[in-house]
Amino acid sequence: MTTPLLPERYYLGVPLIRPKVAFFELSSCEGCQLQILNNESSLLDFLAFLSVVNFREAMTERSDAYDIAFVEGSVTRNDEVERLYAIRKAAKTVVAFGSCACFGGVNQLKNRFTDPSYARRQVYGDHQVDSNDKALPLEAFVSVDLKIFGCPVKKEEVERIVMNLALGRSVQHPKYPVCMECKANSNNCLFDLGEPCLGPITRGGCDSWCPNNRAGCWGCRGPAEDANTRQMNEIMQKYGFPEETLLDRLECFGGFAKEAEKLRAKINRG
Ligand code: SF4
Ligand code: SF4
Repeated sequence: MTTPLLPERYYLGVPLIRPKVAFFELSSCEGCQLQILNNESSLLDFLAFLSVVNFREAMTERSDAYDIAFVEGSVTRNDEVERLYAIRKAAKTVVAFGSCACFGGVNQLKNRFTDPSYARRQVYGDHQVDSNDKALPLEAFVSVDLKIFGCPVKKEEVERIVMNLALGRSVQHPKYPVCMECKANSNNCLFDLGEPCLGPITRGGCDSWCPNNRAGCWGCRGPAEDANTRQMNEIMQKYGFPEETLLDRLECFGGFAKEAEKLRAKINRG
C-alpha cells in the first residue's frame, strides 16, 4: 500500500489542492501572460495557490496534464485551431485570457477588410504567412468556461479570479461600467479635458486603469451590462466628437462588434 502524498501547501491551516495550470498563446502579443510575471510583489503568493505545469514565457518544463488552461490570443491560423481543440480536450476549465481570446482583440481589425489580401500585404509585404482571413475568438471553435477581459488583463483582477477558481468559488465579473471606478478614484472626467472615453459603456473591473493615467477608455473589456451606446453617442457629440471617433473605439477590440456594426450602418446610410 502506498502512502498518500501530503498536500504541498496550506491556506489558513487548510490543505490546499493546487490546480495544475497551463498558459498558452495563440496569435497575440503575449502581453497578457507578461502581466502575470510583472506582478513581482505578489507573484510568489499567487503561485503558491497553483501548480504551473506549462508556461512558455516563464519556464522550460512542459506537461500536458493540466486542470485549467489559460489561453491568450485569437485564432488566425489552421494549426491554432488544432492546438485549441487539443487544449480543450486536455483541460477541465478553459479560460479565455485577455481581449484577443475573448473577442478577437486588436487582431480582429483585419476582419473588416473586404479584400483580406490587402491587409496581409500591408502587414507582411511579400513574406509568405499561414494566416486565415479572419481573426476569431476562442468561442468560435470551442466552449469557454470563463473569460478574463482586458488588453492587457489587469493583474490584480487575474489574481482575484484565479484564487477564486483555486478555492472552488464562483467568479463574478462587475456589471457596472468603468465610469463607476473612475468616479470612485476621484479622477477628473477626460471629456472635460477634451478627450473621448468609452468609460460610460465599458465593463468595469480594471479600476479605471486608463483614465487614471489620463488616457480615455477604448472599450477593451467589452460592454457593461445595459450599456447604452446611443447615449454614449450623444455624449460624444455633445463634446464635439464625430460618430467616426466613437466607431473607431467600438471597433478596436471586438467586444462591441454588434454595436459597431449598427453604428457603421447608420453612418453609411448618412
Ligand atoms: S489582449 Fe492585448 S495585451 Fe493581451 S495578447 Fe491581446 S493584444 Fe496582447
Ligand atoms: S474619464 Fe471616462 S471613465 Fe472617467 S468619468 Fe469620464 S467618461 Fe467616465
